[in-house]
Amino acid sequence: MKQQTYADYMRDHFGFDGEGQFTDFMTRQDGQLLLGGRLNLTELARSHGAPLEVVYTPQITTQVARMRAWAEQARARAAYTGRFIYAYATKANFAAEAVQTALQAGAHYETSAAADVVIAHGLFRQGTLPADRLICCNGSKEPGYLAAIRALRMDGCTNVIPVLDDLDELTALADTPAPLQFGVRERAAGNRDGTHPGNDRFGLTAAEIEHAAARIAGTGHQLVLYHAMIGSQVEDEAHFLATLRASVESYARLRRRVPTLRYFNFGGGMPTSGYRLGFSFDYAGFLTRLMATIRDTCAAYDVPVPDLIGEFGRYTVATHSVFLLEVGAVKQGQPGTPDWYLVNGSMMVTLPDALLVEDQEFVILPLTDWDQPLRPARLGGRRTCDSDDVYPRPDRPPLMLPATDGGLVLAICGVGAYQQMIAGRGGAHHCLSPEPARVIVTEREGRLVSRYVPQQDQATIMRLLGYQPAPLAAPAPLAASARPLRVAPIVVGASGLSRRRLHQRPPRLARIVATGD
Ligand SMILES: *Cc1c(COP(=O)(O)O)cnc(C)c1O
Repeated sequence: MKQQTYADYMRDHFGFDGEGQFTDFMTRQDGQLLLGGRLNLTELARSHGAPLEVVYTPQITTQVARMRAWAEQARARAAYTGRFIYAYATKANFAAEAVQTALQAGAHYETSAAADVVIAHGLFRQGTLPADRLICCNGSKEPGYLAAIRALRMDGCTNVIPVLDDLDELTALADTPAPLQFGVRERAAGNRDGTHPGNDRFGLTAAEIEHAAARIAGTGHQLVLYHAMIGSQVEDEAHFLATLRASVESYARLRRRVPTLRYFNFGGGMPTSGYRLGFSFDYAGFLTRLMATIRDTCAAYDVPVPDLIGEFGRYTVATHSVFLLEVGAVKQGQPGTPDWYLVNGSMMVTLPDALLVEDQEFVILPLTDWDQPLRPARLGGRRTCDSDDVYPRPDRPPLMLPATDGGLVLAICGVGAYQQMIAGRGGAHHCLSPEPARVIVTEREGRLVSRYVPQQDQATIMRLLGYQPAPLAAPAPLAASARPLRVAPIVVGASGLSRRRLHQRPPRLARIVATGD
């Protein structure tokens, strides 16, 4: 009998016959994988080698545009008269090109920390973050966070909205000498039935919200926004909508007494296709039911429907970047267990959520060899010696991949949200696994332009860890580190690196610092 190939597996399990679009971010054409239907990953692996991080920002533009179009459909179908406001939750990926692209696509801004407001402030000054965009500031706010919000407001940004997580935040901000728009976050919005713990550390109780509303009413400030984050459970749509209804009722009751209230913010949790092949989600249908629920609830309470804000983190950025890793060696599994495909990277550093989030998966695709026999395999990160550096986790089923003796390049997809922020971009990683070279592809006037950042070099890692540069290598003049640190204004998009055309072969990494003698 003919052995089943990887192509057979894709056809039998996912109904994909090997050509055309097969997820909302990946296409296969003439045997080559294209990200966003346009960026040829097979070609990039050939010209740059692996490991390689590929960042493709037009995918972010696509994600934002799609969601806004679905929301328009939903508004029409649900006869929803409020606006739909798409905000990018920047904590998913703070990279300048990601934030800038989302803003250019029309996204508003959601912050999670003091540094995040500082970034927004820089973008506001530059005009990259236009004055008409909302900046929703969530999370518990330490003094630095509050000071950053106040500084942004005093610089003329009227649309910064501190979303109160604690009444002390109101006390701290109340004497801001310019009128502020406030939000309140509902405590435990996502955990009313006790099945989703962890969420209830955020927000205000109903009594505290009443208190905040009364205090704000006596000032020049306004209460404008009600935040009810149900959590990362939108896929459990029945639970989401049932839970949401209670929050919308609370909004409507408050709205009867607070006429300045005009935004309802349902937070994050919108799912993405980057984590599982065969994923499907009816975004337009979901938004239609969401808007119908809000419309009916507001009608029952005889209050106008609010403008609806969603804060999209992983949905915005998960699929815009891909790691290309090469299987460098194959080690036979123990009898009855899958083989080990040992890759030239670290699964722990590339996919920290595989360890942190129960059942977290990622889409992993072979760039070539779809005609090879199918093999069950687990990936091991060859650049650490850690038994946890495996994917999938030992209690999960193995991956199905083409047979190889090495040389197979895999696209690790869905990594654009959270993974790099959690791993700590630019840092010293586990077993000092260096960050791979990065190709950043953006779109300018319809043309793709790319920028190449070489692999993290060992001298950088050593400096991060406090080692003096070895005298022979002398990688940087000492005076450089003696200069006072200058906090540069945030300039998005500009770079000291030269811009290279795609497919031009980059220089190979040069410097290795000699140690030990
Ligand atoms: C993290 C976060 C988000 C983004 O969540 P995703 O699931 O990544 O979309 C949105 N809003 C708030 C308040 C958050 O904390």
